[in-house]
Amino acid sequence: MKRRTVVVVGAGPAGLAAADGALAAGADVVLIDSADRPGGQYHRMLPQAYEARAPEAVQHGYSAFEKRVRRVLGHPRCSWWAGAEVWALERTDGAEAEAGTRPLATAHPEPATTAHPEPPATAPAEPAGARRTGPPTAPPRPEHAPPLKVHVLTPAPEPGAPRRRHVLEPDALVIATGAHDRVLPFPGWELPGVVTAGAAQALAKGERLAIGDRVVVAGTGPFLLPVAVSLLEAGSTVTEVVEAAGRARAARGWLDRPWELAAQGGKGGELAGLTGALARHRVPYRFGRAVVAARGDGRVEEVVTAAVRADWSVVPGTGRTTAVDALCVGHGFTPRLELAVAAGCALRPGPSGAPADVFVDVDDEQATSVPGVFACGEITGIAGAPAARTEGALAGWLAGGGSPYARPVAALRRSRDQGRAFARRLARAHPVGAEWHGWLRPDTVVCRCEETDFASVCAAAGDPASGEARVAKLATRAGLGPCQGRVCGPTVAELRHRLGAGEHPVDPAGHPVDPAGPGPHHRPVAVPIRLGELARPPEPPAGEHPEQPHRPAQSYLPVEESGP
Ligand SMILES: Cc1cc2nc3c(=O)[nH]c(=O)nc-3n(C[C@H](O)[C@H](O)[C@H](O)COP(=O)(O)OP(=O)(O)OC[C@H]3O[C@@H](n4cnc5c(N)ncnc54)[C@H](O)[C@@H]3O)c2cc1C
Repeated sequence: MKRRTVVVVGAGPAGLAAADGALAAGADVVLIDSADRPGGQYHRMLPQAYEARAPEAVQHGYSAFEKRVRRVLGHPRCSWWAGAEVWALERTDGAEAEAGTRPLATAHPEPATTAHPEPPATAPAEPAGARRTGPPTAPPRPEHAPPLKVHVLTPAPEPGAPRRRHVLEPDALVIATGAHDRVLPFPGWELPGVVTAGAAQALAKGERLAIGDRVVVAGTGPFLLPVAVSLLEAGSTVTEVVEAAGRARAARGWLDRPWELAAQGGKGGELAGLTGALARHRVPYRFGRAVVAARGDGRVEEVVTAAVRADWSVVPGTGRTTAVDALCVGHGFTPRLELAVAAGCALRPGPSGAPADVFVDVDDEQATSVPGVFACGEITGIAGAPAARTEGALAGWLAGGGSPYARPVAALRRSRDQGRAFARRLARAHPVGAEWHGWLRPDTVVCRCEETDFASVCAAAGDPASGEARVAKLATRAGLGPCQGRVCGPTVAELRHRLGAGEHPVDPAGHPVDPAGPGPHHRPVAVPIRLGELARPPEPPAGEHPEQPHRPAQSYLPVEESGP
């Protein structure tokens, strides 16, 4: 009987754990990531060409991560597609297979045998006295292959040549595409030297580059801590960390139900290390303040911060100016939902209830509403890398045909539920205040790609002719630039909702009637593709492991590890 084939999109903490889980269940795995190295955002690695002597610097949990990378990428049933992008998912729902494609595997899953009975032991040891749940109710099994074609671009064979197109039809698909960071607009945020917290972190971790000498880190959420520490390690002076949540609110959010935090022991240690580093460098951490403007001649030279109330309205007379040469801002994360939306997965509203605050809806088994499609990590909720790993392990094991009754699955489920509780805690402690738009002036740029200002968004929202989102987009051009609304989409959707524009009808209590619509996340083409590449016919995968030709010439595994 043919083995089950699982395609995993994303090799961050969630996707890597999913690949590990599916391999442990006995499946063939194709692991795809647009980056050259696995690790995602949390374990962003220096390029291999740098031959770093201490690759683990600025990494938490590096040795466990490295062990998993060796196990997964070195596994004979795993095909690692580095630098490859899934640009579309096509629903077939009974349509004819496209020429040049073949199903990777069509057989139904083999029942899990005793040869591969255990999912990877990602779950923490069961705490003493933990409540035992009964046997799981019969889960929806991935009986059918998902009605989907997975369209992939793999790197060009030589510089300048078009990338190669492939179409895969796996027995199960795991989507683990993570999130990108969110920044709310304010006057001057488009100045050179103002970057997202995630971009600063990516430069520090992925290149060991500091974005400036004198930096303010601002926004909301615990992510500001690792960003500030990475900047210190890269040689910057961090003049202050500015957290918009009030001290009391953050404390309430974090200290409520403290026993639940016991399950996040690793995070506690990481937090202690980060706050210790800030204290050693005497970096002030200011609660209840926000950056409300950036100024400079040609690039950022100073930032204006002000005290904000719980709803993020500015307290008059509290403005203060600080000289900087760079500013890092982060107001949380936006899940990368394009592929899940293209697959037809149902979404659920996020904690804020804001129109664009939606996540993939998954059941107890990480299964989405589409048969054979699983989701894990930050696309199902923002809870950090450990929670993403646990969800991934569960999703991969079940997608690979592993038994839902296998012994470690119960522990994984418990750990996943603890991760979900952590996500709720995070959202309670660091919500985005509803009155942030009070920072905006009519000429404040809202869409940076198309330089659409706040006044234009307001005018379109008030004009009955552009009441519908699509019409407003054409009228204002917000969301039509290179990022295709990935940065401004949630912001524009929220502003239009507040301004009473029609695409998100509200009930009498003011709640959106369809809070879980794809809204700005609907992008049928998930990543840019050139017309020439689109015009080329897809290449049929070759051989038993069609993916092998796409392995990078130099394997990720160090030579001494991959030798005989
Ligand atoms: C810029 C940034 C930096 C961060 N740094 C930290 C940090 O230092 N510490 C911390 O605690 N948390 C950090 N986070 C939060 C972090 O994202 C999570 O805690 C964790 O990495 C989530 O794991 P994940 O597997 O769900 O997603 P990710 O780690 O984001 O992994 C998703 C992977 O999917 C790939 N991908 C996405 N779409 C496609 C596609 N269409 N085709 C192919 N591949 C695709 C991406 O390349 C990526 O490797 C950061 C987040 C961001 C956005």
